[in-house]
Amino acid sequence: MTTYTILNPATEQPVSTVPGTTEEETDAAIARAEVAQRTWRSVAPGDRARLLRAFAAQVDAHAEELAQLEVANSGHPVGAARWEAGQVRDVLQYYSAAPERLFGKQIPVAGGLNVTFAEPVGVVGLIVPWNFPMPILSWGMAPALAAGNAVVAKPAEMTPLTAMRIGELALEAGLPENVFQVLPGKGSVVGQRLVDNAAVRKIVFTGSTEVGRQIMVGCARHVKRLTLELGGKSANIIFADCDLELAAATAPYGVFDNAGQDCCARSRILVQRSVLDQFMERLEPAVQGVRVGDPSLPETEMGPLISGSHRASVAKYVTEDAHVAFRGSAPEGPGYWFPPTVLAPIGLNEPAYTEEIFGPVVTVTPFEDEAEAIKLANDTPYGLSGSIWTANVGRAIRVARGVETGNLSINSHSSVRYWTPFGGFKQSGLGRELGPDALEAFTETKNVFISTQE
Ligand code: NDP
Repeated sequence: MTTYTILNPATEQPVSTVPGTTEEETDAAIARAEVAQRTWRSVAPGDRARLLRAFAAQVDAHAEELAQLEVANSGHPVGAARWEAGQVRDVLQYYSAAPERLFGKQIPVAGGLNVTFAEPVGVVGLIVPWNFPMPILSWGMAPALAAGNAVVAKPAEMTPLTAMRIGELALEAGLPENVFQVLPGKGSVVGQRLVDNAAVRKIVFTGSTEVGRQIMVGCARHVKRLTLELGGKSANIIFADCDLELAAATAPYGVFDNAGQDCCARSRILVQRSVLDQFMERLEPAVQGVRVGDPSLPETEMGPLISGSHRASVAKYVTEDAHVAFRGSAPEGPGYWFPPTVLAPIGLNEPAYTEEIFGPVVTVTPFEDEAEAIKLANDTPYGLSGSIWTANVGRAIRVARGVETGNLSINSHSSVRYWTPFGGFKQSGLGRELGPDALEAFTETKNVFISTQE
């Protein structure tokens, strides 16, 4: 068996060694999942619900342990990591109500009655990125299990530790063996097998648009169901009539949370020209006030980037001749640190404006009016998230309807609530996660005619 070493991105020191799952081991895990799923789907809905609640309780009892693992593995600030562990518990708790609510329909037809059943799809392959290892795992895992599927999850190669522990907690909570398995390893090996093995009936992928596109091609070969959550380059649109203090104070957190490694990051700030100077005056102290440093300290707001190679790729966007308006701080010494950075002015064709950086770099661009704000916001192949700041309710709704994106907030920078739908437009995604309708993504509708003829 091959193994590989996990590094702490804040110290560059080894944290743990984990097995790298092979293709053969992945196929064997899928075969075990197929067998386990036949039993799991026939567990009475009330019992499936009870087991998911026990799983949620087990995660809750180990939330601090999971949070500390995430601090060490991903460099997330401990406050954020605690929230993320709590999110796994909450998402499991939310979907534990689903097994007893998987209703079909009765449709009167000539000569009888049609009834529908929401059948589980079978084995679901979950391919998880490194930026939010716990929440993104839970968003696929919980509804898939609730609907009666078996799940084989592949965490990102660099950040498998919390997912592996959650796999153990599932067993400790009483979930049957092989209903939920976690296979650490490479995307090109484990992830690819999940896509290529015909016994996996659905893939849930979160990650880059480029890999998402390849996975879509792979799934097409088997006509395999697919949910994609991909990249973003979201706009934070600031109108002159908004609460400028609040918009400027929260803008850094809308993009620098998780060191900008967030598909919902509002990485393009668009500001109405009449208040550009006032906005920049307020943004500067807000950016410099972001507390960057040791992720194990409760006061830390931003940790390191995930790896040295990722830091190099972020740094490419802040070239020698880039217009850096101002920057925040970052520690010296070991760790993959990068200071919060504001680029302005910025050309509309510059890579820092057009490409997803996935780091703590934001651009600021002025606009004249509502029409130009919408045009700029939509001038991207992505459409995942965004914010609109205005005191005018009508404008807020008009602009929200005009912006081609899946998740918007008005006068707020928040993005994801597990009880509301989440997903992207354009090249940011395919399908919706979260919310009550997520179960539809993990079930097939079966239609049965019952004759009432004598
Ligand atoms: P990737 O899309 O490369 O990886 C996401 C997941 O897919 C990982 O588990 C990865 O495994 C796996 N994977 C990689 N190649 C394959 C494959 N051929 N078949 C199946 N699975 C595969 O994202 P990265 O982590 O490399 O990040 C690159 C960029 O993607 C970021 O800079 C950002 O722009 C974007 N991104 C967006 C995210 C989002 O939430 N929307 C999340 C993460 C990244 P492995 O860990 O081995 O690479």
